[in-house]
Amino acid sequence: MRLQDEAAALKGQNNVDDAETMLRTHNCKATAPRIAVLRALLRHGGALDIASLTKLAQSEVPDIHEATVYRTIGTLSDRGMVTHVHAGHGPSLVRLGGDHGLIALCRTCNCVTELPTATVERFILEAQEAIGFTLEPGHFALEGVCANCA
Ligand SMILES: [Zn+2]
Ligand SMILES: [Zn+2]
Repeated sequence: MRLQDEAAALKGQNNVDDAETMLRTHNCKATAPRIAVLRALLRHGGALDIASLTKLAQSEVPDIHEATVYRTIGTLSDRGMVTHVHAGHGPSLVRLGGDHGLIALCRTCNCVTELPTATVERFILEAQEAIGFTLEPGHFALEGVCANCA
């Protein structure tokens, strides 16, 4: 299964029990911190910062430190299980590998929303038709003002 399908499938089902299978599939030893971080990402299903991810992971492994989560993210990124999104001037957000959705960041409250795929695809298609440039969004978040802050 390709990573993209893997992420999509898991996102829909929020199947946190697949964390160990994912590690095994990627030839990665299933240590407690790796399982905890992956389960947290699977449960959340989107992009989040390391501090929030640490809090989520602590519901699996109560004494896990942010530094450990940070190191674990490095290992999981090397194997393609986890990737990052640059969001504004703050630290990068973390999400499951293969998740290429375009994220919108509110500059007032810092909340993160994922843009509908159809909207993004239309935008890519129109840009392609207009100037022949193929956009590959997802690595950087777009900034603006959310519905609550508007
Ligand atoms: Zn980057
Ligand atoms: Zn806002």
